[in-house]
Amino acid sequence: MSETLENLLQETRQFPPPEALAANANVTAAAYDEAAADRLGFWEQQAKRLSWAKPWDEVLDWSNSPFAKWFVGGELNVAYNCLDRHLAEGRGDKVAIHWEGEPGDTRTITYADLHKSVCQASNALTNLGVQAGDRVAIYMPMIPEAAVAMLACARIGATHSVVFGGFSVDALSGRIQDASAKVVITADGGYRRGNPSALKPTVDEAVAQCPTIEHVLVVRRTGQEVSWTDKDVWWHEVVDAADPHHEAQPFDSEHPLFILYTSGTTAKPKGILHTTGGYLTQVSYTHHAVFDLKPDTDVYWCTADIGWVTGHSYIVYGPLSNGATQIMYEGTPDTPHKGRFWELVEKYKVTIIYTAPTLIRTMMKWGDDIPAKFDLSSLRLLGSVGEPINPEAWIWYRQNIGRGECPVVDTWWQTETGGIMISPLPGVTAAKPGSAMSPLPGISADVVDDTATSVPNGGGGYLVLREPWPSMLRTIWGDDERFIDTYWSRFEGMYFAGDGAKRDADGHIWLLGRVDDVMLVSGHNISTTEVESALVSHPSVAEAAVVGATDPTTGQAIVAFVILRGTVEGGDGLVKDLRNHVAKTLGPIAKPRQIMLVPELPKTRSGKIMRRLLRDVAENRSLGDVTTLQDSAVMDLISSGMQGSK
Ligand code: ATP
Ligand code: MG
Repeated sequence: MSETLENLLQETRQFPPPEALAANANVTAAAYDEAAADRLGFWEQQAKRLSWAKPWDEVLDWSNSPFAKWFVGGELNVAYNCLDRHLAEGRGDKVAIHWEGEPGDTRTITYADLHKSVCQASNALTNLGVQAGDRVAIYMPMIPEAAVAMLACARIGATHSVVFGGFSVDALSGRIQDASAKVVITADGGYRRGNPSALKPTVDEAVAQCPTIEHVLVVRRTGQEVSWTDKDVWWHEVVDAADPHHEAQPFDSEHPLFILYTSGTTAKPKGILHTTGGYLTQVSYTHHAVFDLKPDTDVYWCTADIGWVTGHSYIVYGPLSNGATQIMYEGTPDTPHKGRFWELVEKYKVTIIYTAPTLIRTMMKWGDDIPAKFDLSSLRLLGSVGEPINPEAWIWYRQNIGRGECPVVDTWWQTETGGIMISPLPGVTAAKPGSAMSPLPGISADVVDDTATSVPNGGGGYLVLREPWPSMLRTIWGDDERFIDTYWSRFEGMYFAGDGAKRDADGHIWLLGRVDDVMLVSGHNISTTEVESALVSHPSVAEAAVVGATDPTTGQAIVAFVILRGTVEGGDGLVKDLRNHVAKTLGPIAKPRQIMLVPELPKTRSGKIMRRLLRDVAENRSLGDVTTLQDSAVMDLISSGMQGSK
């Protein structure tokens, strides 16, 4: 990308917070002033949300930057903060997790139940020889034992590495080897799309390539046949029989809590290391601030998988540290029918839902009549994470899920940032559809040009973080050099996130996708996000992915891949109409050279569009790394359509 990024999309709609929410909000505008006046003092205040066994001596040690230490000298136990503390305060009978299996089986787990299971799992892991500092891989379906396993590791100071339960043998063994894990915790299988889907055979094959693994701890979920080796032990034999008493020992604030690999949207995944005190402080605070969580009355549901950072920070550590009651769902959104999510919202009277643009656009594609069949009146707040949310998808979410009343919080963050960084505050911000709005209190995000100078309002460039934050990654596991090269070399003294952004006339931040994806068309830097949003604003379009392909006259030309809404019929007339619609919305420079109507888009397992693969298709290259691709058949469909169109 050269100097700045064009700013083509003009969006003027704005939605102030509902009055009742604003009047009773957990966090008010004063938080911005407090943090601006004394950033470290502000975070020190937030750290007091937690229970520390030993107070810190210093809030931040940045002397060896970019290697940060937060709450230096402090000691705490993460599981104690998520469980024991609530029991001590008389909340043991409160429901922590309403779990719903895909076939419709359910479990209600109180904080006392969860505490007991975590204590037993901690004792069982200790009996298997796991000690503080060891690494444990977790390869699980979305069952409560996944959260129990994470918390048990945290409780005994073992560093967990959760690997998404849909990944292949190679992805799993690569991650086990990278972290030299000692134990894998898994299940026989889980339910996906109406059928039991096996996990154990993948683990068996992976473990055969991983000599560091001493034991495999297996939860029985589906009851399917599994082969057994002398490393294998059943969860129900060793955990259920273990002593339910376990005294949590405090760990240093910088003790490694987990390693988690990024989604692999842009490149080979990186093993991101998070530690204890700063991480828990920021996820607890941001969950309280951004979702306005009222633990006594809210029913919270984050639809992410535990295998992604969203599942770590906003299913396990944020909500549980705040004593939330939440929903955990095992399966897919279309099993046994496409209204499953809304049926769950109705059943459990969910008040806060946190999901991803990919899901919102899928629901748009399926049609408005599906959510309309359910009573969604309990909802009071809607969240989005994972990709830029197109303004039209934002509006659809607010109208069709949020009755046109619920605030939408579009939260920007990354595996690397550990917690939410840029987001509206639901009781403060008059949100604009498609904008993540402002850095949270205590966060110094900025948009800069090539020379690291802040762009003025109306300008676009690189999103950077100027100051360290408590839940920042500490390094890439085992590779400090790559940590420095990847994040701290582009701009002196700043963390560069890899994303492009613009600042609008009011100074609000709009994410514009990855800078690697920015298209250079006849000397103009055009973001994929803006062209995609223009396409999605057409009433026939549910989802769009845009890439720049080499072009002899314009340098790069815009190629768009489009999924139509429910019943819309495609054809040359519609394609022409869509090209003109983009030209009218953004200007002629953004008119796509080619639009392909496709049934699906290539996505990572976490649901993000993999533009780099579409670029490979558009430029007739062989495909790059596809290990985190959700469904490889999609690429064959798209490539054959592409050749047919030439
Ligand atoms: P990799 O780094 O391996 O390519 P990844 O970046 O997709 O994978 P994650 O850490 O899961 O891995 O995703 C973080 C990225 O997701 C951000 O850098 C950004 O591009 C995108 N993102 C997340 N939330 C938002 C949001 N609210 N608006 C815009 N983009 C978002
Ligand atoms: Mg990334």
